[in-house]
Amino acid sequence: MPKPELNAVLTRKTVIRPGLALFRFRPEGWDLPPFRAGQYAMIGLPGTTPRHPDAVAEERPLAADKWVKKAYSISSPPTELEELEFYVVMVPNGQLTPRLFTLEEGDRAFIVPRLLGDFILEAPTDAKVAFVGTGTGIAPYVSMIRTHLHAHCERRYALFHGVRTSDELGFREELATRATTSECFSYLPCIDQPQQDASWTGLTGWAQEHWKSGTFSAALGSPVSPADTHVYLCGNPLMIEAMKETLRAEGFEMHSRKNPAGQIHVESFW
Ligand SMILES: Cc1cc2nc3c(=O)[nH]c(=O)nc-3n(C[C@H](O)[C@H](O)[C@H](O)COP(=O)(O)OP(=O)(O)OC[C@H]3O[C@@H](n4cnc5c(N)ncnc54)[C@H](O)[C@@H]3O)c2cc1C
Repeated sequence: MPKPELNAVLTRKTVIRPGLALFRFRPEGWDLPPFRAGQYAMIGLPGTTPRHPDAVAEERPLAADKWVKKAYSISSPPTELEELEFYVVMVPNGQLTPRLFTLEEGDRAFIVPRLLGDFILEAPTDAKVAFVGTGTGIAPYVSMIRTHLHAHCERRYALFHGVRTSDELGFREELATRATTSECFSYLPCIDQPQQDASWTGLTGWAQEHWKSGTFSAALGSPVSPADTHVYLCGNPLMIEAMKETLRAEGFEMHSRKNPAGQIHVESFW
């Protein structure tokens, strides 16, 4: 791994709500390597970077002479060669995110110039694809949708985005617009704390409940089944476990090198 240096400049920071933001970084002195939609980058900062005032004491204090590096899924498409976009939530007692959130446009961070990961769209081109993400777990799907939606319209896609309240629905406008302009894409934003969001009239509850009650089948135009549907899971580990259990009961199998035909694809953030 290359020695850390501040090799990327923050060109845009878009705050969705306090502690939740989009970060766009441009490499300085190096070119972005080719990557595939769904992959991630390692972002790093030195321990000397101040922590955000809304953060609390970190669980594992970081020494000033150390760097901290963490993985972040890329939400921009691989066709954008100038910059990388990331969708990040601040973990108040975390090591990196309270530092990342103090950066302003023009500030610099370290990005490992090698982009990684195998959470990529491998479903057959005539498959139905269900993307299930919670919180910032929709970042890889945004890159995939931006990349594949027009190129492969024979696939149908449904993107379920589970959050607590509707102010956490990053990319909402873009995804809602894509859903109205593309016949093969459905956007399913869903909140699980409706008691705190009185004006919300959309979906509520959990991904696995919507899977069982037919929300995904309706969005994808016909009943979902292991024969013709691939399911991508990313974000909160509780959602991932609940969805895996639900899917396995219906005959879906985990995708892996040993079982490349498996229809369940998982990216665990923690
Ligand atoms: C392949 C991969 C891709 C990732 N992509 C993203 C991404 O696109 N956006 C993003 O925000 N994070 C992403 N993460 C998580 C990220 O790498 C860090 O773990 C996270 O930002 C916390 O770092 P920290 O140093 O601030 O906290 P730490 O000191 O590492 O504390 C970690 C704790 O934070 C919590 N946590 C971690 N990630 C999240 C999260 N996303 N939402 C809520 N709580 C969390 C967990 O409880 C975890 O135990 C990804 C992780 C992996 C492995």
